[in-house]
Amino acid sequence: MSGEKISMPQYAVYGASGCGRGVMPLARTQLRNEGILNDNLVFIDDNAELHDINGHKILSYEEFIKADRTRSHIAIAIADSKIRQRLAERCCIDGLNPWTIIADNAVIMDDVRLDEGCIICPFVTLTSNIRIGKYFHANLYSYVEHDCVIGDYVTFAPGVKCNGNVVIEDHAYIGAGAIIKQGRPGDPLVIGRGAVIGMGAVVTKDVRPRTIVVGNPASLLSKE
Ligand code: UDP
Repeated sequence: MSGEKISMPQYAVYGASGCGRGVMPLARTQLRNEGILNDNLVFIDDNAELHDINGHKILSYEEFIKADRTRSHIAIAIADSKIRQRLAERCCIDGLNPWTIIADNAVIMDDVRLDEGCIICPFVTLTSNIRIGKYFHANLYSYVEHDCVIGDYVTFAPGVKCNGNVVIEDHAYIGAGAIIKQGRPGDPLVIGRGAVIGMGAVVTKDVRPRTIVVGNPASLLSKE
């Protein structure tokens, strides 16, 4: 018999602030449903003053990666998409595995493709024929309707209503309760890269990249 030691897989939620503490219970349930002991489930936070929170240890990134990286899985639960990208790229370079977390009551219908590292919160519905990039966050009670295409590092705050035939480019942020009007087949409504949609906005037409829109109907936030 070989004396080689087999390490246990380890799992982490990166970020021990508001977003991370909301995601941790989902991570715990997912591991339990997969029959994996959750003794190995920790937070990673690089600035934490506490050693544990809500029953889980908080480690720094350097502490976490001391274990076998090939068996280490990380979900990045930080709302800021630029930070998410920076941390995701570092994890990738360091050979860690991206971890997708999907709440067990999320509804996911036909032909929905999610790229790596997404977080799908409770009461989210993704209907059919949808393409979603990496590290998407769909917060509580959001939905994505049919034939939408969502880029990488997109963030939905709670209660976003994204109707059918909408394209959302990388790093867009959609505020809580925003409603995005449906596009048409072959002529989608497009929310540009890095655009920010204010809380409660009603988006009725395309939004240019890196702009901020608010209100009903949504219009450019004037710079004063
Ligand atoms: N954070 C980190 N490493 C980084 C950047 C951020 O550990 O390189 C942590 C930060 O310390 C904080 C969390 O990520 O605890 C982000 O929390 P914040 O309240 O800003 O946002 P949210 O939880 O809503 O995403």
